[in-house]
Formats: sequence, structure tokens, C-alpha cells
Amino acid sequence: MEEIQNKYEEKYEEQFKAHWDKVYQALNQEQTDEFREEFLDMHPYDQSLFFIDQSKEKRMRIYTYLSPDELAEIMINIDLENTPAYFTEMNPRLGAMILSEMPADDAVDIFNEMDKEEVVSFLTMMDKESADEIKHLLHYEEKTAGSIMTTEFVAVYKTQTTVEAMKQLKKEAPDAETIYYLYVLDDDKRIVGVLSLRDLIIAEDDMKIEDLMSEKIVAVSVAKNQEEIAQMFRDYDFLALPVVDFQNHLLGIITVDDILDVMEEEASEDFSKLAGITETEHPNDSAVAAAKKRLPWLIILLFLGIFTASLIGQFEETLNQVAVLAIFIPLIAGMAGNTGTQALAVAIRGLSNGDYENEGKIRLIMREATTGLITGTVCGIVIAVVIFFWKDDIFLGFIVGVSIMASLIVATLAGSLVPIIMDRLKIDPAVASGPFITTINDIISILIYFGMATTFMDYLM
Ligand code: ATP
Ligand code: MG
Repeated sequence: MEEIQNKYEEKYEEQFKAHWDKVYQALNQEQTDEFREEFLDMHPYDQSLFFIDQSKEKRMRIYTYLSPDELAEIMINIDLENTPAYFTEMNPRLGAMILSEMPADDAVDIFNEMDKEEVVSFLTMMDKESADEIKHLLHYEEKTAGSIMTTEFVAVYKTQTTVEAMKQLKKEAPDAETIYYLYVLDDDKRIVGVLSLRDLIIAEDDMKIEDLMSEKIVAVSVAKNQEEIAQMFRDYDFLALPVVDFQNHLLGIITVDDILDVMEEEASEDFSKLAGITETEHPNDSAVAAAKKRLPWLIILLFLGIFTASLIGQFEETLNQVAVLAIFIPLIAGMAGNTGTQALAVAIRGLSNGDYENEGKIRLIMREATTGLITGTVCGIVIAVVIFFWKDDIFLGFIVGVSIMASLIVATLAGSLVPIIMDRLKIDPAVASGPFITTINDIISILIYFGMATTFMDYLM
């Protein structure tokens, strides 16, 4: 079965490569028609991959071969932070035309990445209708419903019949972001109902929209935060949600594809913070830029590390007497760090999904304590047995085993407690990042280990 699948994938890849080469050749030999035919045959996402793979000289050629409309499709599919550079290199008039062609919400996303001056200059060159709409959207705060919605939706009126509504849908379909939901408005443009394309298609010709529509509408307020909207999409499973102001006027819609981007953005933000990378780092940042973002954290951790080292120094005498203790320091500290990070990741995920009410947090902590006890006991016994056979020393095995057990319990608890406390204090829990927890757990586990060793010194010698 797998073999067939592999063969199929290989074949697909081969065809893809052949097509890619053909497009490349046409571009290389300046065969405009041939290029257009083959290039436009690709999926817009693949088009964008091809586009960013080209040299500047080839890209300049592509700008002249394609229409603004076709170029808009490519620009929408490129990673946002890279798009402004392309708009800077092309003829500004063309840039303005491309921005006018794309859905307003996508243009707003791109504008949000550009310098203010550039935004103003593009807005003055764009056609008035698109520019007005974008100016309107730009006023909404970043990361709210208003900033991610699009105003290209299909609206009908409740007094219309299905035939009339269908006619209107046909007229508006080319520009609408989705045609699957029709929102029903009253004379003041307030939303009073919704129906799906399926509902419309299966209805009799002379039925009135008001008899078809559903009046229990799920809508989001324009000021709602994008993370909460993502949650609503998960809960309700709609392909789009209407955005309204406080008087229920329909301002726009948010479609599920925009929400997928939001989910990715929020998740990668949380994970970057978890890894101690505060400002989001992009894979194509320069080495210097990447180092700049990571260094502050590493320096802090360096000092914490020095503190840990001086802590070990406190036990110099114990170490001098039983040097073999030193070889297990990395093991114990490492295990505590590992388990703490595991617990931290679970807690962060839960907190950012809004999974926990107060009771849920207590349940999480209890569960982590039990998990720590189980994993600690198992790891402790395993290492004690190994050390007994390896070093032939039952007390050393006992001390390392018990230390691992105690460290794992404490570290697991710390991994879930710290983010919950941070959340309570209204600090973003994702900044209780992995390296930080690791260092705290290093310190705790070393204290436990040497505390035990010093106490039972007499048995070890
Ligand atoms: P079904 O799942 O019932 O076969 P469907 O697949 O055609 O319907 P869905 O996306 O599942 O469409 O939507 C189900 C119903 O929810 C549709 O009849 C539609 O009118 C309604 N609906 C769509 N958007 C909203 C909304 N924002 N609030 C309330 N109801 C909505
Ligand atoms: Mg459905």
C-alpha cells in the first residue's frame, strides 16, 4: 500500500518538476505567451513559490508578463513579511494596481507590514473605491475582528424570493470572499438572518428568504480579539462568521482561511516565547538579526548558570570526598529540565486554548503532581538499579535514585505551577519560557542531590 502511495507521489513530483522547468524555460527565453499559459496553469500557491525563487531580473520580467489581477493572486500567497520588498522593487503604479485588485483584508495585511510613507503613497495612487475601503479597515486595531475581516460578502434582503436572491448572488459572486453564506439584512443594514448556498439551492423558486433563513445568528463584534475568534471557529464549525458593530450592523465577514493564518500566528508566537526567543524570529532573518534576538535571553541564562555553578561550589567538600558524585550532576539536572519543559508545554497549550477554569487548573496541578510521582518513581528505580550494577554501590544508587525522584516531582510541578501563576498575575504565561524553567529546575535538583549526598556522606565513603 505504502509502496503504491510512494510511487504515486514520485510520479506527481516528477510531473511537477517537469512543469516547473517548462515555465522556467519560457521565462528564460522571454516567450511571453508560452510563459503565461504554463504559469497560470499552476496553483496560485505554487505560482508564488516559483516567483520567490527567481532572481530580481526574472521577477522584473514577470511583472510585465502578468496582469495586476494575476500578480495580486501571487502576492497574497507570499509570506507577509517578505511582500513589501517586492512592492518596493516594482513600478509603484503597478504596485498600486495590484493592491487595488486584491481583497481589501489582504491589502490591509500587507499595508501593516509597510512604512507609513509607503502606505500613504500607494493609497493616493490606488483607485478611490479600494483605497477608501482600506483606509476604513486600517482604522481597526491590529489583531481584532475589524482588522482581519473583509467587506466582500453577499447580502440579500428578507423580502426577496429565492430566484431574486440567486440572481443577486450571481452578480456579486465574482468579487465575494465566499459565496457559501448569504447574510440577510433589514433596511438599516442590520443583520437579521443567514442562509447557506445549500439552503438556497434546494428551496422552491417562489419561497421568501425570510422563511428560509435562520434567525439564530452567531456573530462577532468588530473589537473582538482574533484569538477568541479562532476559538469560535473551532467551536461552531462555520466556514465564515459575520462581523457586526454594537447595533448589529453587518460590517464584514471573516472566513476560515484567514483564521487558519491567525491560529498559526498565535501558536508560533507562543512557541517562540517558550523557547526564549522573545521577538518572533523568521527563518530568513540574517544571522546577526537572529543572534540579536536570542542574546538577551542567553545572557540572562548565562548568569543563572553561574549561580548554579557557585551553588555546586558550596558543596565542594562533599565533592572532594566523593568525586563520583560529579558524574551524575548533568543527568539529574537534565532530567529535571526535561520533565519541567514537558509539563510547561502542556500547561501553556491548555492556557492559550482557554481550556482551564479555576477548577481545571487545580485538577491540572493535581494531575501533574501524580504524573511527577509516577515518572519520578520509575526513573528513580531504573537509575538506582543501573548504578548498583555499574558502580557496585548500593548507597550511591539510592542517593541518585531518590534525588531523581524528588527532582522530577518538583520539576513537573514547577512546570505547571509557574505558567498558571503567571497567568493569574496577568503576565503572558508563554514568557515563562522553557530555558528559564530548565534553569530553575537545575538549581532545585542540585540542591536536592547534594543535600541528600551531604546528609548520607558517612555511608558513601
Ligand atoms: P448542514 O451542515 O446542515 O448540511 P451546510 O453544510 O449547508 O449545512 P454549514 O456551514 O454546516 O452549511 O451551516 C449550517 C447552517 O448554519 C446553514 O443553514 C447556515 O444557514 C447556518 N449558518 C451559517 N452561518 C451562520 C452564523 N454565523 N450563525 C448562525 N447560523 C449560521
Ligand atoms: Mg455542514
